[in-house]
Amino acid sequence: MNSLSDIKNYKTLAVMGGTFDPIHYGHLVAAETVRQELNIEHVLFIPSGRPPHKQKTRVAGDEHRYLMTVLATANNPYFDVSRMEIDRPGMTYTIDTIKEIRSQCSEDCKLYFITGADAAAEIISWKDPHELVKLCQIVAVTRPGYDKSKIFYELRKAGISPYSFTFLEVPALSISSTDIRNRVSVGKTIRYLLPESVEQYINKLKLYNYQHYWETEPMITEINKKLHYMLSPKRFVHTQGVADESVKLAKIHGADEKKAYLAGLLHDCAKDFSSKEKLKMCDKYGIELDEILVNQSDLTHAFLGAELARDMFGVTDEEVLGAIRYHTTGKPDMTKLEKIVYLADFFEPSRQYFDGIKEIKQYAYEDLDTAVAFSLDHTIEYNRSKNRLIHPLSLQALEYYKGSLPKK
Ligand code: ATP
Ligand code: MG
Repeated sequence: MNSLSDIKNYKTLAVMGGTFDPIHYGHLVAAETVRQELNIEHVLFIPSGRPPHKQKTRVAGDEHRYLMTVLATANNPYFDVSRMEIDRPGMTYTIDTIKEIRSQCSEDCKLYFITGADAAAEIISWKDPHELVKLCQIVAVTRPGYDKSKIFYELRKAGISPYSFTFLEVPALSISSTDIRNRVSVGKTIRYLLPESVEQYINKLKLYNYQHYWETEPMITEINKKLHYMLSPKRFVHTQGVADESVKLAKIHGADEKKAYLAGLLHDCAKDFSSKEKLKMCDKYGIELDEILVNQSDLTHAFLGAELARDMFGVTDEEVLGAIRYHTTGKPDMTKLEKIVYLADFFEPSRQYFDGIKEIKQYAYEDLDTAVAFSLDHTIEYNRSKNRLIHPLSLQALEYYKGSLPKK
């Protein structure tokens, strides 16, 4: 099996670093060509953290870039992906990454670092370039006919031997992530520029056509990192979907978009704990356990989620906490944000189809109260059919909103 734990067994290993925002066939062809031409056993893709030279540009969340890289490389047994850089706090420098890899692989392992020739030319401006070229061989991929004289000149001037570099021609691929992002944002096709799985991921999560300034804020990045470990992959994707849908609804109905995003992101943060853990945490946070909550411990995750959002994720905004707390049961007289997250949870794109989903979405875009009434009615009926007890808050909420039920 090829896994990161095998790293110490390789005699040759190449690192392919990049923002991968998104990963595309240019990256994959470069990595595969280098691997074969230089007879390298394995290529490790390392999506970057926040690289110093890309501080100002907008990038998709770290987790999106990581997942897209996993999707793109999954079918190549010689490719792996590492979270090393995105999990490292602070600035990202290639030298630190290479040192970390060096410390994990065998002493006689030959390390390569793959980079586009244009990026390679900038290597002298990176941190500790002299040490870097001692620790690994730089493989600069170029399009056929690339003029190396300028880069040779620059390297010599900086006191770096051009022999630290291996130049390799790869088929001319002028694909770039920047171009792909621009295409998505204006609705042009990106088909055949990147693996279909990545294209589908971009479409499904509406990346790049829905960029918000806060998505790259450190607090959001930190939240995503924690969620990645706390939730199953499926729930993680669901979480991103609810966040995005909540923003859309906030835009339509004039609510605070950033708060909607935050609440959507965190609404299920307590969901994947076991029943036992949930009940124990209820005790810790003073959440009163009635018969329903003890028997259907899953219902506690919304109340717990609000506590964790405050305690673990540093959320202090009561509106956001309320939207997390009541996203499952609902309650009478909900705030706009509470309604939005409650509804987005039903119909975000990765949700499995169920009867009524289309109506909920349609109502939610037109009138929040109608949508809430319809969803409550639907949920209560469904849970009754499964012989589950109904939480009193949901019954009170339906009583409160039933006047808004659509006419049958
Ligand atoms: P952006 O447009 O955002 O700069 P990019 O397409 O250049 O993105 P990066 O993630 O910055 O992608 O690149 C990672 C590495 O892959 C870099 O070393 C870069 O030079 C190299 N690379 C990028 N595009 C290609 C390509 N089409 N062919 C070969 N190598 C590439
Ligand atoms: Mg680039």
